[in-house]
Amino acid sequence: MKRRSSFKPAPTRRVRVLRLPIVTVALFLLFAVASRCQLIRQPKAPKTGLKVVKVVDGDTVILSNGQTVRYIGIDTPEQGQPFYEAAKNFNRKLVQGKTVELEFDVERYDHYGRMLAYVFVRDKSGRRIFVNAEMVRNGFARIYTRPPNVKYADLLVRLQEEARTNKRGLWSVYKPTRSPVVGNKRTMVFHRMSCPSVWKISPQNRIRFPSAEAALEQGFSPCRECQP
Ligand SMILES: [Zn+2]
Repeated sequence: MKRRSSFKPAPTRRVRVLRLPIVTVALFLLFAVASRCQLIRQPKAPKTGLKVVKVVDGDTVILSNGQTVRYIGIDTPEQGQPFYEAAKNFNRKLVQGKTVELEFDVERYDHYGRMLAYVFVRDKSGRRIFVNAEMVRNGFARIYTRPPNVKYADLLVRLQEEARTNKRGLWSVYKPTRSPVVGNKRTMVFHRMSCPSVWKISPQNRIRFPSAEAALEQGFSPCRECQP
C-alpha cells in the first residue's frame, strides 16, 4: 500500500513533463500552419490600399506607390492602332482613382519591372469588378496567355469568345484569315503560314489550325507582325 502510493506521483509527473513539449510542439505547428496559410493567401488578393493614379493604356496603370502594373492575360491596342483610345478610356472609367486589390500568378514581374497582376476594384454599389476580364468581355482587349501565368486563361478565352461573337469593340473590325494558321504552344501565339516566325517554332510546340477563328477559340492570340 505504502509502496503503491509512493509510486503514484511518478507517472503524473512524467505526464506533466511530457505535456510541456507537446504543447510547445502543438503551438509551433499551429503557428507554422497559420503563417503558411498567410503565405499562400497573401499573394492571392491583398487589399493593397493603393490607388490608381495614372492610366497608361488599356492594360497598364500606375499606382499611388509609383509601381507600374501590367494586367495579366490580356493585351490592348498600342498607340496608333484602332481602339487604342477607346480601350484606354474604358480602363480609366473602371479604375482611375480607385483602390485596387491585386492578385498574382506565378511570375510577379515582367522584364520591364512592371508588376504583373489581376486587378480588382469595387464599383459604386460595392460590387467587385475583375478589370482584366472586363476589358476582354467588352472587346477592348485580346487575351494574351503567357505561360506560366494562366490562372484565369479559361475564363478569359470564354469572355473573348463572347465579345467576338457579339462583335464588340476591336472585334467589330477584325477580319480573321480563313487560311490555315500555325500556333506556338509555348507562346500561345498563332501566325500565317508565311510568317517568318513559323520556322522558329520547334516541332513539338507547333500546332496547325484550319483557320484563325479555330486558333482563337483555343485561346491562341494573333501574331502582331503577320496579323492573321
Ligand atoms: Zn506571325
